[in-house]
Amino acid sequence: MNIPMVDLQGQYRTLKDEIEPALLQALADARYILGPNVQAFEQEAADYLGVRHALGCASGTDALHLVLRAAGIGPGDEVITTAFTFIATAEAIRYCGATPVFVDILPDSLNIDPDAVRAAVSERTRAILPVHLFGQSADMDAITAIAEEHGLKVIEDCAQSFGAAYRKRMTGGIGDAGAYSFFPSKNLGGFGDGGLVTTNDDTLAERIRILRNHGSSQQYHHDVIGYNSRLDELQAVVLRIKLKRIDDYNRNRLRVAQTYNRLLEGSGLVTPKIPDDRDHIFHQYTLLCDPERRDAIKTHVLNRGIACAVYYPIPLHRQKAFADAPPVALPVTEETSLRCLSFPVFPEMTEQQIETVCAAIREAL
Ligand SMILES: *Cc1c(COP(=O)(O)O)cnc(C)c1O
Repeated sequence: MNIPMVDLQGQYRTLKDEIEPALLQALADARYILGPNVQAFEQEAADYLGVRHALGCASGTDALHLVLRAAGIGPGDEVITTAFTFIATAEAIRYCGATPVFVDILPDSLNIDPDAVRAAVSERTRAILPVHLFGQSADMDAITAIAEEHGLKVIEDCAQSFGAAYRKRMTGGIGDAGAYSFFPSKNLGGFGDGGLVTTNDDTLAERIRILRNHGSSQQYHHDVIGYNSRLDELQAVVLRIKLKRIDDYNRNRLRVAQTYNRLLEGSGLVTPKIPDDRDHIFHQYTLLCDPERRDAIKTHVLNRGIACAVYYPIPLHRQKAFADAPPVALPVTEETSLRCLSFPVFPEMTEQQIETVCAAIREAL
């Protein structure tokens, strides 16, 4: 039995009868740029996430970039963030000419450590950019408290957290803005690239609306140099259909994680904690193992036809692309990058598939 990290083909089969006619209708309607489905999706996403504004854009990377630019972050500014994430988090900071300041993570949640954030605040700090990694919210009360104390913006990287909540508040509406990705393998994934910015700040929303559309609020009037970064109408068709099912998808991911945790009890592996005050949506199911054993476990599981992957093998402060940044010591980040191993998790995953994965893991041990 082959088990992929995510089963996009399986999911497509369950949606086909609804998606195909809706896509054909949008093709026939021919309102391809910022059309009715984008507008409807933005409203539906804003309602679901409980925010005043949701604005589509071309990717999650662009969502981060647009927010940072709209927040006025530029050369000379510092943005405190995590190095244990996908590169887009810090790329977007660099696009603005600002400097990412990498701080360490907490060993249990693998999210940014608020004490480390506090220690890194300088004269030049303008924003904190937490990532809700693997579908679990960062410690937002602690982070917003630091931001308020120092007059900083909080920009949430929600690429992995669509529908995740912190103390009953949806991620993406807690800080000044949230940036979402609809890359196909995310919890809410399109059939290509797409992104979304959320905010309760009317001014920020208006700036983003202008920036994503060539710096223009009125056709052929350009107030600033902007970008071509819009959510595609066909992606919006798909996302509207999947948004109706997101709670069900996320509930099933939690079910998969709970089953893994139960089946791996006593294995000696560190399984992810499921905290009481956060709705974890398990974008990834990530174990920590002995660094000497990781490659052997991975090879064994892959040989059984089961996908598994290391997210992330090289933290950002160790990447060549950030070689010019001042060197930092991030011991928890570095240790985690040697110990982490992620296994398949998707809503359609059967109990039998989870048992098969766990059996392969146990054999490897
Ligand atoms: C996927 C991802 C992004 C980038 O999203 P794209 O839509 O691929 O540009 C940013 N941050 C994190 C944490 C991600 O996982």
